[in-house]
Amino acid sequence: LNGMQWNGMDQKYSRRLAALAAAASLALTGTLAGCSSAESDHKIRIGIKVDQPGLGYQDGNTYTGFDVEVARYVAGKLGYSEEQIEFVESPAANRENMLNTGQVDMIFATYSISESRKKTVDFAGPYYTAGQDLLVRADNTDIHGPDDLNGKNLCSVTGSTSAQKVQDKFAKNVNLVKQNSYSDCVVALNGGVVDAVTTDDITLAGLAATKANKGKLKVVGSPFTTERYGVGLPKGTDKCEAVNNAINEMVADGTWEKLITKYTEGTGYHYNTETNPPHLGTSCA
Ligand code: GLU
Repeated sequence: LNGMQWNGMDQKYSRRLAALAAAASLALTGTLAGCSSAESDHKIRIGIKVDQPGLGYQDGNTYTGFDVEVARYVAGKLGYSEEQIEFVESPAANRENMLNTGQVDMIFATYSISESRKKTVDFAGPYYTAGQDLLVRADNTDIHGPDDLNGKNLCSVTGSTSAQKVQDKFAKNVNLVKQNSYSDCVVALNGGVVDAVTTDDITLAGLAATKANKGKLKVVGSPFTTERYGVGLPKGTDKCEAVNNAINEMVADGTWEKLITKYTEGTGYHYNTETNPPHLGTSCA
């Protein structure tokens, strides 16, 4: 083959490649637009946790928990049926990114409203107020609050406000062990690798109440922060008012109370009645 022929083939190939690329990019645009828009494919993708029993939990194809059911209720009010909801795992550290890249349309995942997160995402809500607490082994006698953590190994989840709080307030004296999930922290606690796990009280109560952990772990029970759970939405969203209206309706028609009772019953956890159900307005939090 001489240079001329090569060039000829190159041209032919590059024309075909260009056509293929154009077709692929059209297909891709179509898919992406379809995924994020309710009108075109009638689906909504909702980010949840999958390892927080009572809040966001996955067992095969079944999703349960307060967050999951609040999400179903709100999606219903926005016009989606159960079949149109696709639940997607959204670990603590990935939430902002998943909203910004359109991997999910909304997040209900024990997602605390914070000033730093508000720089990149919007929040509707809050729909619940929790508080950060500690989980220890049932036979522990020396950990009663965060001040007792000096020299101890403490597990928390990467990207959570809980880990940040400990780092800001107690990092000098505590050895913070960060994991990607709450289940990993519980394994470390049961195995004696860490002395305590920290995150929100309602999550810790759910973890302590599982069949596997019952009698082995206990929640300390003196919350030391206020965590207002918001509905994560992409920055610049116009959905805050509709989501807030749905949450207000959920409180007014008794569903909120029914769900929080259903998912905390038998755990020994009682929600703070001074801060719950939260009051919310019509605009983003
Ligand atoms: N609510 C806290 C947060 O948003 C801790 C729980 C979690 O990781 O989701 O970071």
